[in-house]
Amino acid sequence: MKKVKQVAIAGAGIGGLTAALALAKANFDVTVFEQASQLGEVGAGLQMSPNAMKVLRALGLEEALRSYAFVPQHACIRHYQSGDYYLKSPLGAAAEARYGAPYWHLHRADLHNALLDACLHAGVRVTLGCRVENYKDQEDKVSFSLSNGEQYQADLLIGADGIRSMVREQMHGQESPRFMKQVAWRGVVPVSELDGVKIQPDACVWVGPGRHFVSYYIRGGKLVNFVAVEERGDWQQESWREEGDINELRSAFSGWHPEVTGLLANAETTFLWALNGRDELTAWHQGRVVLLGDACHPMLPFMAQGAAMAIEDAHVLSQCLEQYTRAQALARYEALRKPRASKIQAMSKENAGLYHMHGGLAGRIKLQAIRAAGQFMPQVIAHKLDPVYGFDVTK
Ligand SMILES: Cc1cc2nc3c(=O)[nH]c(=O)nc-3n(C[C@H](O)[C@H](O)[C@H](O)COP(=O)(O)OP(=O)(O)OC[C@H]3O[C@@H](n4cnc5c(N)ncnc54)[C@H](O)[C@@H]3O)c2cc1C
Repeated sequence: MKKVKQVAIAGAGIGGLTAALALAKANFDVTVFEQASQLGEVGAGLQMSPNAMKVLRALGLEEALRSYAFVPQHACIRHYQSGDYYLKSPLGAAAEARYGAPYWHLHRADLHNALLDACLHAGVRVTLGCRVENYKDQEDKVSFSLSNGEQYQADLLIGADGIRSMVREQMHGQESPRFMKQVAWRGVVPVSELDGVKIQPDACVWVGPGRHFVSYYIRGGKLVNFVAVEERGDWQQESWREEGDINELRSAFSGWHPEVTGLLANAETTFLWALNGRDELTAWHQGRVVLLGDACHPMLPFMAQGAAMAIEDAHVLSQCLEQYTRAQALARYEALRKPRASKIQAMSKENAGLYHMHGGLAGRIKLQAIRAAGQFMPQVIAHKLDPVYGFDVTK
């Protein structure tokens, strides 16, 4: 059986572009089809943990991103009203020394642009406004139709087409993503418009009953990003993302710590997202088609690892395709990636209970135990995070 040469990718999100870059650098012939007519990542900030940074470094992007990055000093969990710390664990230089790569905060658009520039420079063809509609897996090629009426064929099709993946649907049948009974408001506030509100230079999760709030700086410290998550019974809207009502958001978090309310008082706009999930997939590949990123393992954002997992997937898939014939490469990719992505999917879900103070007394005891561990046994906290941040797919 032959090795893959020509690769087509559905989706130019962070996963699709990272895969395109890794493959182009390994001399594959790569074309990306993106349904959006303009490229530009919506939705504010991203925490890029050291495990993902190792891949971006291996792809030569670290220097291009450095001036856009913000280096958080601590990872914090704080009480929603008093601001008391349940956790204040060092990031900054300490994280870089411990994990061998930095922990950065980036604006999604900055990461997306850096990936796109590098892809174009490496010879990737990116076709915009072109939806991959359905594919036909043949013996010697995979062919698929595009929304512009054309047909295309390649040795391999990578479905990096996000949580509503068409490629996944064709591989596994129709199944709508499940609303996880949580919504997330997101937004950014320029530091110049903070009106004296002082935001700590940390990755901070403010925890309260039934909701939590995340705040951190991005774009070299020029903007503050926020994500406000609230539990909700249902999602009535047709779309899964819409412009949110800033006053509704302010009232959902009224009475919270002044760092939160002050930030929201100075925010002008916000977007509201339904948070969706899916069950673990039985298989990530079939014939000449393979899935990557949110298309195969969407997760709640409560470990800040969704994009990081897509980036790790991209690197591993490229390495496998470089070393093995197609069938071996896809089997190996899935065997290497699925257990890790599924574990982090589960950890993300667990954090929802913790951040929303579920479980009454038991929940409060858990938060107090984190506080005690952070103060007296920081190695317990490190022990939980080491396998996530310390992992190095480039080795
Ligand atoms: C509130 C929130 C906060 C988050 N914070 C973090 C964080 O701090 N750190 C982190 O690592 N992750 C975070 N995540 C998760 C992260 O955003 C996702 O996991 C990541 O964007 C997934 O990337 P992807 O490339 O797999 O999919 P996507 O980003 O969804 O990209 C898919 C692309 O495919 C295109 N597409 C779809 N269908 C087709 C088709 N048929 N043909 C062609 N193109 C198509 C889409 O237009 C899109 O451009 C967060 C998520 C949310 C909701």
